[in-house]
Amino acid sequence: MVTNQCCSKCGSAAIVLNGRTAAGKQKYKCTACGCYRTLGATQSYSDEQKEMILRSYQERASLRGVHRVHGVAITTVLRWLKKKSRGSSHS
Ligand SMILES: [Zn+2]
Repeated sequence: MVTNQCCSKCGSAAIVLNGRTAAGKQKYKCTACGCYRTLGATQSYSDEQKEMILRSYQERASLRGVHRVHGVAITTVLRWLKKKSRGSSHS
């Protein structure tokens, strides 16, 4: 199977998928430079996605549930929550 993913370090396409991180992201080993990296490590979420995920967190009151459903890292959700609580003092 051919993957169109490349090593984010050296740009080689000679990568071997290597399981997933605790956050559910695909890990790989680059056979060209030998590094271990995570695919989509710089993944970012749109404001809409953030809102949706935070809302589902409030409904479930469970970071694990949100993580399972959306695949978003728990630490990422916590970061958003911190940001959100700081920015909503004028409500
Ligand atoms: Zn590489």
